[in-house]
Amino acid sequence: MRTQIAIIGAGPAGLFLSLLLDRLGIQSVILELHTRQYIEGRVRAGLLEHNTVQLMHELGVGDRLKRQGLEHGGIELRFNNRGHRIDFRELASGKCVTIYAQHEVIKDLVAARLAANKPMLFETANLQLHAIDSTSPYVTFQHNAPGQKSTERLDCDFIAGCDGFHGVSRTSIPQGVLTTYERDYPFGWLGILAQAPPSSHELIYAHHDRGFALLSMRSPQVSRLYLQCAPDENLALWPDDRIWHELQKRLATHDGWKLTEGPIIQKGVTGMRSFVVEPMQYGRLCLAGDSAHIVPPTGAKGLNLAVADVRVLAVALGAYYSTGTTDLLAQYSATCLRRVWKVQRFSWWMTQLLHRFPDDNPFDHRRQLAELDYVTTSRAASQTLAENYVGLPLP
Ligand SMILES: Cc1cc2nc3c(=O)[nH]c(=O)nc-3n(C[C@H](O)[C@H](O)[C@H](O)COP(=O)(O)OP(=O)(O)OC[C@H]3O[C@@H](n4cnc5c(N)ncnc54)[C@H](O)[C@@H]3O)c2cc1C
Repeated sequence: MRTQIAIIGAGPAGLFLSLLLDRLGIQSVILELHTRQYIEGRVRAGLLEHNTVQLMHELGVGDRLKRQGLEHGGIELRFNNRGHRIDFRELASGKCVTIYAQHEVIKDLVAARLAANKPMLFETANLQLHAIDSTSPYVTFQHNAPGQKSTERLDCDFIAGCDGFHGVSRTSIPQGVLTTYERDYPFGWLGILAQAPPSSHELIYAHHDRGFALLSMRSPQVSRLYLQCAPDENLALWPDDRIWHELQKRLATHDGWKLTEGPIIQKGVTGMRSFVVEPMQYGRLCLAGDSAHIVPPTGAKGLNLAVADVRVLAVALGAYYSTGTTDLLAQYSATCLRRVWKVQRFSWWMTQLLHRFPDDNPFDHRRQLAELDYVTTSRAASQTLAENYVGLPLP
């Protein structure tokens, strides 16, 4: 097989890239490790920045998003048992964010790709990248055609490594090329999906002595809630009653606000990490999304950052194929990293502002409360939060 761009991974980065390239008349083949059913059912992020929503409409995949997405014009920061609203529309030039689950985005993008009859292979095994520092890179993999297993080779001009944090693209780059910057956090999030109407129209980020809590939602019938927990928290110790009890405590207010409970339909623990590799390219391989960087979920940025990367990549590849210029491709990593580091900063800032750290002392606790008070009373500070949350401008 031969194509122009081999895309490894059918997550948000790989799928958005394929549609952006299609629009420019550039061929691509997507190679995905898992089945379609698996990637369309994997529950992950749920909040789309203004730019991501716009892009879905531009690419003609925004119909369900328009019908089912929940637009949010703000969030609540809750501390000392009182809520304080940050009004995005007022503070960020009328922009807002939209709640629409990542796996619904994936369904829309996969459907568009298949409807356009463009190549996408699921269940590709033992994928390996070759000759990435040459002008003729290629990928080998095993593919399970019904009843047989064959090794395939895909030749291409460029490889887009969109295979997430655990993929093979980043690790195919020779040792010594990449510099890694990372921070692990001494806590995780215990997340639940509950069959319960959300108790608030907008997200609530709660700072509490017992630890952070977040109230979010998937639809008008389903709530998504999180509790700060140990990074290796044992879920067996968290029967449903204990989870609701803890959420009630951390989200309680002085004004009688009520948290609606309901059957818990899914629960899991997510670790928290900040991670960046530099550069995000080597030879003819460009990394995009989680394969190059991870943010803690507090700022709701992971998916949106992956989309921002591939927009830059698509423009650079478009320039290469239309005029032969390589300037934008050579700048790919530097262009992306400017945004990546700003988003890392914001995600870290939200995380350190709202969570309890094991080595915190009463001074740290007071400092957090003072900062929350400042953020919710200073227009300059709340505007900084709002413009980062709805998404920084594109380059
Ligand atoms: C449990 C969890 C919860 C999360 N919650 C949030 C949240 O609330 N908010 C938020 O903003 N972000 C969240 N994130 C992060 C967000 O989901 C990611 O940032 C986003 O999915 C990144 O998209 P991506 O396309 O770069 O990578 P991915 O979505 O990871 O996609 C990579 C794709 O590559 C495939 N792949 C991997 N290895 C190979 C291989 N060897 N060969 C072929 N294909 C391969 C994978 O199967 C996958 O389909 C969460 C992540 C996780 C894991």
